Amino acid sequence: MVTENLANVEKKIEDACARVGRSRDEVTLIAVSKTKPIPLLEEAYRAGARDFGENKVQEMMDKIPVLPDDINWHMIGHLQRNKVKYLIGKTTLIHSVDSLRLAEEISRLSEKNNVLTDILIEVNIAEEESKFGTSRDEAISLVEAVSALPGIRICGLMTIAPYVEDPEDNRKYFREIKKLSVDIANRNIDNVSMSILSMGMTGDYEVAIEEGATMVRVGTGIFGERDYNK
Ligand SMILES: *Cc1c(COP(=O)(O)O)cnc(C)c1O
Repeated sequence: MVTENLANVEKKIEDACARVGRSRDEVTLIAVSKTKPIPLLEEAYRAGARDFGENKVQEMMDKIPVLPDDINWHMIGHLQRNKVKYLIGKTTLIHSVDSLRLAEEISRLSEKNNVLTDILIEVNIAEEESKFGTSRDEAISLVEAVSALPGIRICGLMTIAPYVEDPEDNRKYFREIKKLSVDIANRNIDNVSMSILSMGMTGDYEVAIEEGATMVRVGTGIFGERDYNK
């Protein structure tokens, strides 16, 4: 099932890119495997997936050693400072940096371990109470503060759009965060690139691609519904 689902998502990504004249290789598909057992991840791997997203540090640490080495692991969930130590040197990209204190801890441990950690700044673009992420207004000052830290490199922005029935309802948010990333890029801040825009999930990744996403995070659309009671 995972193999067919992946092919289906792949086709939709290609179509969305074609609709707006983008090249398929501008968009990385992250298979969000949280709560899913190893055999399903292995199936996705065999079908070509090389980027996996997890939202819990422990679960990611359990999965990394039993899966192939050439997988890019993306931390997409809210991160506590006391868990950062497990991630350093293990993740390709931390998508969910939303405070200076968290960035400082990533910086400190990266320096200590002699690595450079790539991160995104998470922006709560719809200003939802229930979501993590910096506000749009605070994003620029956070980017500036984090850019001064050693051992850490800002590569772009991430957002989790609201849960909606009609993905068109999120288009305005995807446009807003794209605009924010262009505004930040235009400031030419040292040590900051805005090359990555991580946005779009199962319900709205096609619209996100049309509005400039370079990474889409698809879980349910690849692995099926999640069961949190198991
Ligand atoms: C779970 C999760 C996803 C994937 O959600 P689906 O709707 O299952 O595609 C994407 N991004 C984040 C941050 C998540 O926590």
